[in-house]
Amino acid sequence: MYRTHTCGELRINNAGEQVTLAGWVQRIRKMGGMSFIDLRDRYGITQLVVDDSVSHELNQVAEKLGREYVIQATGVVAERSSKNSKIPTGDVEIKISAMNVLNASLTPPFTIEDESDGGEEIRAKYRYIDLRRNPLKKALELRHKMGQETRKYLDSIGFIEVETPVLIKSTPEGARDFVVPSRMNPGEFYALPQSPQTFKQLLMVAGYDRYFQIVRCFRDEDLRADRQPEFTQIDCEMSFVEREDILNTFEGMIKALFKNVLGREMTEQFPRMSYADAMKYYGSDKPDIRFGMKIAEIKHLVGGKDFAVFDSAEYVAGICVEGAASYTRKQLDEITEWVKRPQVGAKGLVYIRVAEDGIKSSVDKFYTPEDLAKITAEMGAKVGDLILILAGDKKKTQDAMGTLRIEMGNRLGLRRSDHYAPLWVYDFPLLEWDEETQRFYAMHHPFTSPKPEDMEKFYSSNREDIAAVAANAYDFVLNGTEIGGGSIRIHDSAVQKRMFEVLGFTSEEADYKFGFIINAFKFGAPPHGGIAFGFDRFCALFGGQETIRDYIAFPKNNAGRDVMLDAPSHIDESQMDELFLKSTLKKS
Ligand code: ASP
Repeated sequence: MYRTHTCGELRINNAGEQVTLAGWVQRIRKMGGMSFIDLRDRYGITQLVVDDSVSHELNQVAEKLGREYVIQATGVVAERSSKNSKIPTGDVEIKISAMNVLNASLTPPFTIEDESDGGEEIRAKYRYIDLRRNPLKKALELRHKMGQETRKYLDSIGFIEVETPVLIKSTPEGARDFVVPSRMNPGEFYALPQSPQTFKQLLMVAGYDRYFQIVRCFRDEDLRADRQPEFTQIDCEMSFVEREDILNTFEGMIKALFKNVLGREMTEQFPRMSYADAMKYYGSDKPDIRFGMKIAEIKHLVGGKDFAVFDSAEYVAGICVEGAASYTRKQLDEITEWVKRPQVGAKGLVYIRVAEDGIKSSVDKFYTPEDLAKITAEMGAKVGDLILILAGDKKKTQDAMGTLRIEMGNRLGLRRSDHYAPLWVYDFPLLEWDEETQRFYAMHHPFTSPKPEDMEKFYSSNREDIAAVAANAYDFVLNGTEIGGGSIRIHDSAVQKRMFEVLGFTSEEADYKFGFIINAFKFGAPPHGGIAFGFDRFCALFGGQETIRDYIAFPKNNAGRDVMLDAPSHIDESQMDELFLKSTLKKS
C-alpha cells in the first residue's frame, strides 16, 4: 500500500497513529540534526521530520532528496511545537521511521508556489508542473464542480445529455471551420463543430424535448486576447418553449450554480434589458451593471452654441463620473489621449467639472455658466462629479462611450470581481449588413427566428426593412462579459429557406450545405429554442478571474499553439500522400 492518508488529511486527533504518506517534496529545511520536509499532494501539505539522532541512515536518504522528488514516508503523527496556522495540517508533523524514494525529479524550471517565478512561456511548456501549483489546482477543481453541478441541476429538471459528433460537415457561417481530411473519401473533408447547433435542433425534431451537453467546440478565429480555438460550452435546447421559458429555466440553473459552487443565494429575478437600451445607456450589448454611470444623449442640450464639434456631430453623449471632479488637468489630458487610441476611436474629449468653486469645462469659450449648469443638472451631476462627453457618428461614438464608461469603472474600482451582476439582454437585430461583401450576415446564426411581429419585414424586398428585423435572441451577461447566448429557432422549412435566401445563398447552395435541416423541418419539427454558455469563461468569472486559460487544463497560447506538444506540426510526406494532400507552402 502506497499510503494510508493523503497529505491534506491528518489533524491533531491523529496524534500517535502510524501513517504512511506519499507525495512530492515541496521544500526541505535543515536545522541542527533534523530535516523538515514539506510533502505535497493534491490535498495539501504535511510536514515530515527526519531526526538524525534517531536514524542516521534515514537522514542520509533525506540528504539526497531534491524538490519534486516523489517519496513515500512512514512514521508517527505528533503534535508540532511550532504550529503553522496557515495550513489545515499545521498542528501536526510526522516523525519518520522509514522513507522510500519512488522517483527522482530534475530541478523544476520554476517554483511551485502560488506566485511562481516562471514566465508564461516556460510554464506553458511545462504545463504538467505548472498544474501542481495551487491556483491552477483550485481553478480545475472549481471547473469540475461547475460541471458536476450543471449536470446535477439539468438532470433534475429532465434534461438528458446527448453526445453529438465531432467530425461533421463544413458550413462556414460565423467563424472559420477547422477541417479534417478524410482518407477514405479522397479529396473530401470533415469539419469540427463550431457548436452542435444543428444536431441539437435535430434532437428536438426527434422528440428529445430537453437536451444538454457539456461539449467541446472549435473555431478557427484569429485569436483575440483570451480566446481559445477549442473551448467548451454548456449547450442546451428545449422544445415547446418561448423566450420566457428559456430565460426562467436557465436562470434557475445559474442560480443553482451560484448557490452550490459559490455559496451565494440569489433570490431576485435577474434584470432584463433590450438590446436597444443596452446600447443606448451602456454603449455595449453586454453592459456591466455592477455600476451605474449611464450614458446620456445630450445633443439637444449642447447644440446651437456655435461649438462646431457638437453642432456637426450626429450624436453627443456624456457620462457623469461620481466624485471625479478632483481629477487634475494632467489626468484629464491623459484620459483624452486614452480615448483617442484606435481601440477607443474617439476624436477628442470634452469635460465639465462640477467643483466646490463652480462649474468648469474644457469648452468654457462656447458655454455660459448657465448653459453648463443646465447640462450638469440634466445629467444629475452633483458637486464633486465630473462629466465626460464624446461626440461624433452615432455607432462609433456609442461604442467609444461604452469603452470609456468601463475604463472609468475600472479606474474608480467599481468593477469588483467578488460582486456579481447578472443580466439578460434580448431582442438583438437579426441581421447585419456588410458593406464590403454587400450581403447580410446573421448576427447570431442562421437558425435564429425573426420576432413574429417582424415576419412581414423579413419577407420584404427592401433592404432597410430586412435590416430592421429583430431576432428572438437573448444573451446572458455577467459583469460585462457575455457568458451565454441563444434564441428561439426557426422551425418552419419555408422560413429557414427564406433565411438562407436573405443571407445570399442560392437555393442550390442552401440545399447543399443545409439541406438536411431544411428537410428535417418537413417532418414535424416542434417549436424550439435554446442557449449555450461559454463554460470556460463562466468558470473563470466564478473564480474571480478574467482569463480563461487557467481554467483549461491544457490551453493553447495566443498564437493558437500548444507549446508543450509543439502543435500544430508538420506531418510526414507519406501521411500527406495517404490523405491526398499537397502543401502549397514554399519551403524556405
Ligand atoms: N450555438 C449557439 C452558439 O454557439 C448557441 C445557441 O444558439 O444555442 O453561439
